Amino acid sequence: MIPIQMVDLKKQYAKIKNEVDLAVEAVMESSSFINGKAVSDFSNHLSAYLNVKHVIPCANGTDALQIAMMALGLEPGDEIITPSFTYIATTEVIALLRLKPVFVEVDPKTFCIDPDAILKSITPKTKAIVPVHLFGQSSEMETILKIAKEHNLYVIEDNAQAIGADYTFSNGVTKKTGTMGDIGCTSFFPSKNLGCFGDGGALFTNSDELAEKIRMIANHGQSRRYYHDVVGCNSRLDSIQAAILDIKLKHLDEYNDARFNAAEYYTSAFADNPRIKTPFISTGNKHVFHQYTLILDGIDRNQLIENLASVQVPAMIYYPVPAHRQKMFSFLNLPQVDLPETDWLTERVFSLPMHTELDQAQLNYIIEKVNYFTN
Ligand SMILES: *Cc1c(COP(=O)(O)O)cnc(C)c1O
Repeated sequence: MIPIQMVDLKKQYAKIKNEVDLAVEAVMESSSFINGKAVSDFSNHLSAYLNVKHVIPCANGTDALQIAMMALGLEPGDEIITPSFTYIATTEVIALLRLKPVFVEVDPKTFCIDPDAILKSITPKTKAIVPVHLFGQSSEMETILKIAKEHNLYVIEDNAQAIGADYTFSNGVTKKTGTMGDIGCTSFFPSKNLGCFGDGGALFTNSDELAEKIRMIANHGQSRRYYHDVVGCNSRLDSIQAAILDIKLKHLDEYNDARFNAAEYYTSAFADNPRIKTPFISTGNKHVFHQYTLILDGIDRNQLIENLASVQVPAMIYYPVPAHRQKMFSFLNLPQVDLPETDWLTERVFSLPMHTELDQAQLNYIIEKVNYFTN
């Protein structure tokens, strides 16, 4: 059996090596390393795939979130509602811009922001909601967009873990995650569902006006060469990364299907295990399983991880410390928040290897060991 890893990028690369190597070589031959044709080609292809008007690439997913908040004109002290149970980047940029993160609960079933918790946290200072489509599944966007409209709030979707996922509205309309709010943000970090061979990110919007602002901010606030109208930053996608992403985009649906199939296989194998709660998939939506995350019941999690490691099965905890308990926010003197659902989750979540290259033998081995050590 091939050794099991949380993410196996080597095997994935081997399958597209010829194509990727040629594309990288072509960029090197062109010597157009930044914002070259490869970048505009990829942006156009991604915008067609997502059915969104504008895709603006940038240097990474964290920058994408920061640029989104700058483009919306959010100002120090403005309150931004965000889940506490997320990767730190979502909440870090809020603090970096001296905006005020208002941490709320997630729905423990979906791991995504709880719309009722959003409603309870709105104040006259609230300016935006940042739903995170955690682990590859869309947040409850219909309700979130309705709340945003009623209270005149912006919606910035953190789509770093869910590119390719779908959300279906009650009227039957289906949209890609990241294209429903004012701005969607994603990351092309290597282990993400659409990952490059370094850092990369992008913003999505259907608004021409926002797209123009975003482009300006990502490029030193420049309106035309050497004329800088607003304070921006330097956040670009390399042509080499774009060329690689353009190839991987053609495989994205197949990659996401492979993840989904592995998840289904795990889930049916854990169906009778009373100590394990398998991921919930909301009806009508397409989950792209960036992570396969279980909730453990009555199990010593650290012991389980140790036991699995002893038989070469890696496992991870995403995330062991929620944002509202991170030291980094202490300078903001935020009011104490009580998020029992979030604390409960962080003590019990447990993620198994999830990637595009898991084979039957590996899955069977992981399942056998997990069932054995949780019995
Ligand atoms: C990965 C990730 C980011 C940040 O992306 P980078 O490209 O690493 O900066 C932001 N939010 C979430 C939820 C992520 O998983």
